[in-house]
Amino acid sequence: MRTQMATEAGRTTAPSEDRALVGPNLLAVLDGVTAKPETGCEHGVGWFADQLSAEILRFAHLDPSAALTEAVRQAAELHSGTCDLEHPDSPSVAIAVVRIKDDVLRYLVLGDATVVVDGQRELLVVSDTRSRRTAGPRVADVEHALTGEVPLRDVRRVAILSDGAARAVDLFNLFDWRQALELMAANGPDDLIRKMRAVEKEDAKAVEWPREKISDDATVVYFDR
Ligand SMILES: [Zn+2]
Repeated sequence: MRTQMATEAGRTTAPSEDRALVGPNLLAVLDGVTAKPETGCEHGVGWFADQLSAEILRFAHLDPSAALTEAVRQAAELHSGTCDLEHPDSPSVAIAVVRIKDDVLRYLVLGDATVVVDGQRELLVVSDTRSRRTAGPRVADVEHALTGEVPLRDVRRVAILSDGAARAVDLFNLFDWRQALELMAANGPDDLIRKMRAVEKEDAKAVEWPREKISDDATVVYFDR
């Protein structure tokens, strides 16, 4: 088994709010939701993404839903004393998690993130682009995640992408998902980001491909067997 990751900030003037996790049996991408001017939190989205990342790794022995539930609970506790967690714009992340245990791959997607599983015969693409729910201060939101499992023997390769990277396929149509996996197998996930950045640069005014952010933080974790 081999795991590769690539991540690049969308702008040179601000740190990326994406996080990539590569644990012993758990892979994840977190994408901090761009903060509103007022969030009720004195820490910020980057801090929240870091705390949630650490907690998810701590609970990696649990299945993804249980791990994220515990992680959200713990991360909330870390700032419940100082921050207003009832604030509607409290920091949160879109998240995708893949965990491999007992010959089963389990996935979870909450918010605008994507998991692609190449299952030899069929390609499974799990993304939640329309839901506005993300992983923030409320444990109950985890119930809205998309989850499922695939027998490991059917899995050839897996990619987990933040929306800033998935747009290579679902906005720019540079390739379809199967071609994207082939590209990553041959050249690594950084090549997907490189090719996408070139297109974003050519369309720097977002005329051909209307989009809110010219370039967004882009992260890919790619795994093959
Ligand atoms: Zn806070």
